[in-house]
Amino acid sequence: MLLSVVVPMYNEEKNVAPLLERLLPLLQRTVGDEGYEVVLVNDGSSDGTLASMRAAVERYADIVVVDLSRNFGHQLAATAGIELAQGDAVVLMDGDLQDPPELLAEFLARYREGYDVVYAVRRTRKGESYFKLLTARLFYRIIKRLTKVSIPVDTGDFRLMSRRVVEALRRSPERHRFLRGMVSWIGYRQIGVDYDRDERLSGVTKYPFAKMMRFAVDGITSFSDVPLRFVSYFGFFTSAAAIVYALVVVGFKLFSLHPPGYTRGWASTIVAVLFLGGVQLIGIGILGEYIGRIYDEVKGRPLYLIRSIDRSNENAAQR
Ligand code: UDP
Ligand code: MG
Repeated sequence: MLLSVVVPMYNEEKNVAPLLERLLPLLQRTVGDEGYEVVLVNDGSSDGTLASMRAAVERYADIVVVDLSRNFGHQLAATAGIELAQGDAVVLMDGDLQDPPELLAEFLARYREGYDVVYAVRRTRKGESYFKLLTARLFYRIIKRLTKVSIPVDTGDFRLMSRRVVEALRRSPERHRFLRGMVSWIGYRQIGVDYDRDERLSGVTKYPFAKMMRFAVDGITSFSDVPLRFVSYFGFFTSAAAIVYALVVVGFKLFSLHPPGYTRGWASTIVAVLFLGGVQLIGIGILGEYIGRIYDEVKGRPLYLIRSIDRSNENAAQR
């Protein structure tokens, strides 16, 4: 059997060599010389990441370096790597050594037991801010409530996938990808293994707050239409409240009384107008999130473009 390890990297020049130094001996021990390939995807880095990857191709066997035409983002870079991987099983992992390669042995054991997906569940996360920990915790719990697809909580993209899962992914051409959700949607037999997430070895996170928010919205809009329904529920609710209030006003008028809010009419009118204006804009915004994604899909552009692919020269490379 062939095992592919896919690693998308964006400005990780200092992490390429340490990653391979830890990963390759492990692969040789667990699957043997002929049994693996490591697919490094350079996601349009502006530092020396590509040079580090090319040095690795010269030095080691069984390395594939895929250079994308520009920065497409983590999810698309991962997709490129997964689609190029030839293994019977494909492992996706981060290039900053936050995902310990040592977990591969457990992944493989589960895979051999017949599981199609083995995903890593973060028991603890080292070196992350309280803010990131809190928002991540919240996010996974919110999306769990919003969708029928059972997306495991506290799980990233670090996972092993069997060939049939990879083929199913290849047939899913969606653009705003939330891979961990897509893999859950595919089904078959899936299981989680716990691990402690390490600190990033070198460099800084490539997911600043704004990008994280976009990713969260991608996840929610790809797997749930609850936000849309929420808008209609809220519309019904405010209409009902308005009708009740209208009846109250008419009632008071019939008995020649002042309705509630009458003496402070200006304030209550302004508050109602501003509130409803805000609610309508939020509603339009939610609609817009979905329509923007429809627009992106309809254009049908390729998900990513490849500039070059380098493979280790099997004869020259030393193991
Ligand atoms: N990454 C990428 N393209 C991007 C952003 C990130 O290929 O546009 C890679 C990055 O190099 C790393 C992985 O995706 O290997 C996870 O990113 P990061 O470690 O920055 O995310 P975090 O662990 O902080 O959530
Ligand atoms: Mg990281």
